[in-house]
Amino acid sequence: MKSFPLFLTLENRPVVLVGGTAAAAAKARLLLSAGARLTVLAERPVPAFYDWAYEGALILLRRDFTPSDLDSAILAVAASASDDKDRAVAEAARAQGVPVNVVDRPDLSDFTVPAIVDRGQVIAAVSTSGAAPTLAQRLRSDLEARLSPALDGLAGFARELRPAVEQAIADPIERRRYWAGFFDGPIADRFLAGDEQTARRLAEDALAAPVAGGHVALVGAGPGDPELLTLKALRLLQRADVVVHDRLVGPAVLDYARRDAERVDVGKKRGQSYTQEAINALLLRLAGEGKRVVRLKGGDPFVFGRGGEEVASLVERGVSVELVPGITAATGCAAFAGFPLTHRDHASAVTFVSGERKAGGLALDWAALAKSDHTLVVYMGVATAAEIAARLTEHGMDGAVPVAVVENGTLPEQRSFFGTLARLGDLVRDNHVHPPALLVIGKVAGLAAGQAAPAARAA
Ligand code: SAH
Repeated sequence: MKSFPLFLTLENRPVVLVGGTAAAAAKARLLLSAGARLTVLAERPVPAFYDWAYEGALILLRRDFTPSDLDSAILAVAASASDDKDRAVAEAARAQGVPVNVVDRPDLSDFTVPAIVDRGQVIAAVSTSGAAPTLAQRLRSDLEARLSPALDGLAGFARELRPAVEQAIADPIERRRYWAGFFDGPIADRFLAGDEQTARRLAEDALAAPVAGGHVALVGAGPGDPELLTLKALRLLQRADVVVHDRLVGPAVLDYARRDAERVDVGKKRGQSYTQEAINALLLRLAGEGKRVVRLKGGDPFVFGRGGEEVASLVERGVSVELVPGITAATGCAAFAGFPLTHRDHASAVTFVSGERKAGGLALDWAALAKSDHTLVVYMGVATAAEIAARLTEHGMDGAVPVAVVENGTLPEQRSFFGTLARLGDLVRDNHVHPPALLVIGKVAGLAAGQAAPAARAA
């Protein structure tokens, strides 16, 4: 962190502002709105300062600055329009240990003033550490649009309720769950919509009701790019106590979880391999502890994700489960490699198959899969690519049918390779393709930008 953000209480505390420029007036307005006891040193101030002085909002001294002006100040701000004077203020402040801000001079400042969204008790501040004030302003307007003016009231309501909540709910985790429900659900919704009466009734009902047990959300994390998370996935991630994830779920996605949430990697790394039974048992235990659990799976939980088994085990034991679909590797990779999965002229069906070799080899209905006008998407097929191509050819598929291999789809390190069915095995081997990678077989694979048209290819 380039600088340390903090919110300072200025109510009734002495602050010195040197300069009477328009920029100084803007700072004065901010400092006054925070209740500072403001002394301004300015020989020729802009008119706003006379008005404030007349109203008794600040003390205006129409003379030059001297270091002793800072004697009791807790903050100093300089915007005098004179480089020498600003520098003198900065030096004097530093000598006396008073934090100083020189407007538009981060190099002379101990602190910078962020761009803020002011909602009373709720304040959002954005800083670029002085690097790009316009960017800070842009972000501030984004936040301005998203933060309801009623947030101050909502925060006040929560503050008022806090003693009762602390008394009624002793356990901090359960208390956090109460507050998460308060802000995520109908209580906050009703309040922000102006229906305070209903909000109050709901808040009291929620306090009186017995505390609910844990909850597991089975959430699809998408193929890798965190922007492919759904809004639901994001919301659940941000309020989870524990995130139980697979190896396929990368750090870029996990970064969206609450910072203090526990993270459990049940992937096969670090020598420690969780069996499906162990994962089921872990989820049950965490839910039993009353935690909000997010079980995060790569892609979609119900596409080759064994999501069905985890749900069954939880439902059987009465744990409440929520299901959140994700973008599966097939749709993610197709979009990021630039070809469709179906097409009016080339593919009227798409089939997802697993290329994983079972004890008895690859158990797939080759004759059905070898049909033309059909897109075949193979998950977990890196090791078996050559064999899959051979079986499909044996069952009548043309060796000239286009194929695509997409490795690490949607991630910055994505690699895509295009060729024909006859060369699928070579394509994987020669390019040293490693999982996770997807094989796409069918005319659509020839439609990616930069690919020859399938008709030309077949000729
Ligand atoms: N539930 C996941 C699939 C899990 S099976 C989903 O819906 O996507 C694991 C296989 O998915 C991998 O072997 C690979 O074939 C595919 N896969 C997952 N993420 C991928 C990615 N980012 N790029 C390419 N293939 C991926």
